[in-house]
Amino acid sequence: PRIRYVVSGCLAGLACRYDGGSNPCAAVIRLVEEGRAIPACPESLAGLPVPRLPCELAEGSVLSRDGRDLTEDFLRGAQLALRTAQSRGCTAAILKSRSPSCGFGRIYDGTFSRALCPGEGVWARLLREAGFALFSEEHLPPELGGKGEGED
Ligand code: SF4
Repeated sequence: PRIRYVVSGCLAGLACRYDGGSNPCAAVIRLVEEGRAIPACPESLAGLPVPRLPCELAEGSVLSRDGRDLTEDFLRGAQLALRTAQSRGCTAAILKSRSPSCGFGRIYDGTFSRALCPGEGVWARLLREAGFALFSEEHLPPELGGKGEGED
């Protein structure tokens, strides 16, 4: 099978989430097992530790809950993850919704209160600008039975 998708590592079951957890999505795990998708976590590729403090995007900057500016780290990880996806021939992505790296459509609003605002994560933006089709675990690609691209 051809690798078409790059997927958020946490959706593939990798324990790369800030709190050491994951967000396993059965359809995504199946794609990886079938050799049709590769997982990547931009925050791990940036060298950020697990666990780490949660981060949110506010006015273009990535801030961790203690106020540190991690914008450069997130950008570096996102660029590495984009390059990984491109080098493997991926043209579409299935991304964890709401994340400051992977979310698109609506993301956490920077207040660490679970509130959402329109926006896109750092990696999602790079993927979109590079021409990738973007999907999420809540809007899976039509070939996986989802409704396709769209907002939450
Ligand atoms: Fe999942 Fe993306 Fe966050 Fe990594 S950066 S834990 S892949 S949502």
